[in-house]
This record gives sequence, structure tokens and C-alpha cells, in this order.
Amino acid sequence: MDETEMPAPSYLSLLENGELQHRAVEAEEYLSSCVLCPRECKADRLSGKTGVCQIGARARVASYGPHLGEEDPLRGRRGSGTIFFGGCNLRCQFCQNYDISQVPAGVEVEPVRLAEIMLELQSVGCHNINFVSPTHVVPQILMGLLIAAKAGLRLPLVLQHRGL
Ligand code: SF4
Repeated sequence: MDETEMPAPSYLSLLENGELQHRAVEAEEYLSSCVLCPRECKADRLSGKTGVCQIGARARVASYGPHLGEEDPLRGRRGSGTIFFGGCNLRCQFCQNYDISQVPAGVEVEPVRLAEIMLELQSVGCHNINFVSPTHVVPQILMGLLIAAKAGLRLPLVLQHRGL
């Protein structure tokens, strides 16, 4: 199915009725005593403290770009717009992305930069925005999505959550 035939992503209707902003603000409040995942560290991430995932107020982006190594339905012809996040709430002993998830790798980004990355991936023709290891940075993603959606993001989202 071509992108033009696909239904509009639901975050656009949430943007329109104000619910996306509401959810982004509400999610960010969880960072002040973080219980985003079952680790329940209660770290005050808004003031820079970190818990098991090792990430504070800002998400870390280790790398991003069109990913042609994903499964066919995700990569299509022009790639899946993959964003790899540094840090992880699982810390599996045999993680294949150890250098990203447990070092943790990447540069800290404000939501506006995250929005720019999403829009850049859309502009180069990616079929979707594919968040890898997003569980511990869902509030930051929502803030970025809010900005990107207002600026014209229209791609479907893929979340490759880790299972805790
Ligand atoms: S997201 Fe990070 S800081 Fe928050 S509860 Fe999970 S591991 Fe702890």
C-alpha cells in the first residue's frame, strides 16, 4: 500500500483536539519521580538525576537514519526512519546493542531537535519513524512529536519497546 492510501496517523487527530499536548505534559510530570517503567526508581530526572536506565531529563540519540536492514514491511523501498536511543531500562547481560544501551551512547537532545530529526527522516523519504528502545524516553518522544506534528510530520510511528 502506498503512503498516500494509508489512513492518517492517530496522533494527528490527537493534535487537533489538544489531547497530544495534554498527554505530553502529563507524561513529562512522571519524570520528576520516575515510574515510567516497573523499575520504579523514583529518580528526579527533571533535575538531572538518573535511575537504572541512566538517562535524565533529555533523551540521548545514538544514531538515526533510513534503515534498510529492518523487516520488509518496515523498510519498504526507502528505509525505515530509525532513531536509536541511548540507555535502556532492561540492562540485559547479553544485549546486542550494549554499546548503545548500557554505556550509554549518543548525544542529549532537546525535544525540538528530536522533532527536527523526525522531519528530516520524513524529508528523505522514509516510510515511518521507528523508535528503538524508547520505553525510558516516552515523555521526551511525545514532546518531540508534538513539535514535529505541528510542523508537518505525517508518517506512521513504530515503537520497538523493550519488554519490561
Ligand atoms: S524509566 Fe529509567 S528512571 Fe524511570 S523507572 Fe524506568 S529505569 Fe527507572
